[in-house]
Amino acid sequence: MKIIVLGSGTSSGVPAIGCSCAVCRSENPLNKRTRSSIIVETEEVRLLVDSSPELRIQLLREGIDRLDGVLYTHGHADHLHGIDDLRPLSFGKDLPLYGKEEILGEIVERFPYIFGDTPQKGGGKPRLRPQMVKEPFRFGDIKISPILVYHGIIPIYGYRLNDFVYITDCSRIPEESYPLLENCRAMILGGLRYRPHETHFTIDEAVEVIKKTGPGRAWLTHINHDVDHNRLKEELPYPIEPAYDGLSFVC
Ligand SMILES: [Zn+2]
Ligand SMILES: [Zn+2]
Ligand SMILES: [Zn+2]
Repeated sequence: MKIIVLGSGTSSGVPAIGCSCAVCRSENPLNKRTRSSIIVETEEVRLLVDSSPELRIQLLREGIDRLDGVLYTHGHADHLHGIDDLRPLSFGKDLPLYGKEEILGEIVERFPYIFGDTPQKGGGKPRLRPQMVKEPFRFGDIKISPILVYHGIIPIYGYRLNDFVYITDCSRIPEESYPLLENCRAMILGGLRYRPHETHFTIDEAVEVIKKTGPGRAWLTHINHDVDHNRLKEELPYPIEPAYDGLSFVC
């Protein structure tokens, strides 16, 4: 299975509009972070996890021109608002959208032009078919297990895909979800910044989760502009590294 990090940034992206901090002004390409999203692909299928507002730019950058489905972690704008860029990827077929029931409900409500009955004149609309996820299911040769986590007080999903775990926005993992994080070969986990945040793990909190569960390799994602890539890379203990846009690995 191959994982491609499309975006590794927090909701405002890095650089943030109007900010002149050292990281936002940095010329290091590893400090340029589009909104968080990944591709998971096997010989049989290619899945997108979340449709960030930069989806078009991300897919063009990675040369992705075909998808078999989309998996949603939650409905916040930074994980969803590129949904219209799914149009060219759903020509002539319905793309399944997988997610938690409440989250799919939120997505359907937010985009009546896509999910309502009224035909859209002009540029058309993406053809998307919401499919509720509650239990582990198979998608081609990938076993997908939803992992219930808390993003502030909102229950959302992270996912285990075969032996890979992806959790972006999270400030608490309930004890009963931990078994799904154990014995995985690779993990990408949100670690927003050094200072505490109400709805996201700090870098230290994310490191603690990774140490507790012991994946073979791990990357932090959903990183904000307080964090310089090279500095974080030096600070993190093995086998943890900061993710970056365009990172890819086999798992
Ligand atoms: Zn987010
Ligand atoms: Zn900044
Ligand atoms: Zn969020």
